[in-house]
Amino acid sequence: MAMDLGAEPTRPQTSPKVLQEKYELGRLLGRGTFAKVYYARSLASGTGVAIKVINKSKITNPTMELRIIREVSVMHRLRHPNIVKLHEVIATKSNIYLIMEHAKGGELFSKISNRRPLPESVARRYFHQLISALHFCHSNGVAHRDIKPQNLLLDNEGNLKISDFGLSALPEQLKDGLLHTACGTPAYTAPEVVRRKGYDGPTADAWSCGVVLFVLLAGFLPFDDSNIALMYKKIQRREFQFPSWISKSARRVISQLLDPNPTARITIEALMQVSWFKKAFKSIGQLGFDYSLESTQYGSCKLDSTMNAFDIISLSSGLDLSGLFIEGKRREKRFTTEVSLENIEAKLEECGEKLGYRVERTKEGIVGLVKGKLILSIDGLQVAPELFLVEVKVAGGDGLGYEEPYWEDLKDELQDIVLAWHNDMK
Ligand code: ADP
Ligand code: MG
Repeated sequence: MAMDLGAEPTRPQTSPKVLQEKYELGRLLGRGTFAKVYYARSLASGTGVAIKVINKSKITNPTMELRIIREVSVMHRLRHPNIVKLHEVIATKSNIYLIMEHAKGGELFSKISNRRPLPESVARRYFHQLISALHFCHSNGVAHRDIKPQNLLLDNEGNLKISDFGLSALPEQLKDGLLHTACGTPAYTAPEVVRRKGYDGPTADAWSCGVVLFVLLAGFLPFDDSNIALMYKKIQRREFQFPSWISKSARRVISQLLDPNPTARITIEALMQVSWFKKAFKSIGQLGFDYSLESTQYGSCKLDSTMNAFDIISLSSGLDLSGLFIEGKRREKRFTTEVSLENIEAKLEECGEKLGYRVERTKEGIVGLVKGKLILSIDGLQVAPELFLVEVKVAGGDGLGYEEPYWEDLKDELQDIVLAWHNDMK
């Protein structure tokens, strides 16, 4: 069940060895649906991290962008000891890098390969951690929807870490496609999800937890058939057999989770009240962990539809994702360019003069374009080796509106150096 990491081909030559002079890339840790994950070492602190590399050429449609945005924002917001932490995001021209906490222990299920089951107390401990993380996510309005072995990792101390919250962004259609192609088998997927009907995320997660618990205790899958149609049938009919060593109370928990009828299935909350579960369970609060939901409630955030994944990632320096959720109108425009900052300044001065602006510089070196009462301040930031983000802001004026025609003139003048505008300036 564990991934055969040894068989992975070597890194493609295009991958840099040192990322942004910050992270030294090492071996391939694993391969996901859209990305490869490498081990890396932070040159500043010496600590190990995991870097998920998403090739931008694979981001072919807005749905995929949404998936990445969601993964980034979800991972960043949910701080819990049993969820893989996201440290930083770096975007270059060709790749997006998610710098994550490295789960040193690898995949949980490599522990139980060769059909070797875990003792009940050990299995229960992992299960506690899984349920604790999911309960935390569900109470914050986020379901995982892709709980399976490859997404359950372990840290150095053998604590479980859930990774890959990305799939939760996929709309039904695309997800169905994925289940059949990329994931290959619905072994962990709730029947109502397979049936392609609408479904409830937390309830579907509960099903997957039932499969995980079964595998931990049995050492093999409850539903397993190389014929997927046959597997569906078994799932629908709850056709699985417990090995003799699984205790009666654990069987009861598994059966309640593996209820094909989502409305009758036990909820995560109810599960947490079952005595088998409560045995030796310590809530993370009791364990003294510092966990929190970053920023505001998920549901109340509004995504600015004019931004794409790349904007969000490149604008959210240090991953302050508050930039993701914009309220009201902004009085600035941003564009990306491959022209270096010095050359951008020269270009802006040239354009400004052409359009009748007076060019001024502040003590901090920020260029300002002044015309009458209107002051545009221009600031730049390097976001990747050959990529710069330039911000043109209305720094002064007499209430000149956001949509004033001066933007259009400036836009025309700058057109040959702009890769893309990252607002609604079309
Ligand atoms: P995808 O979203 O493309 O499915 P995943 O996030 O699931 O990618 O990562 C793919 C594989 O990489 C995982 O199955 C795991 O083996 C490995 N991996 C991912 N994140 C980490 C991490 N933080 N630490 C160690 N290994 C990881
Ligand atoms: Mg994955």
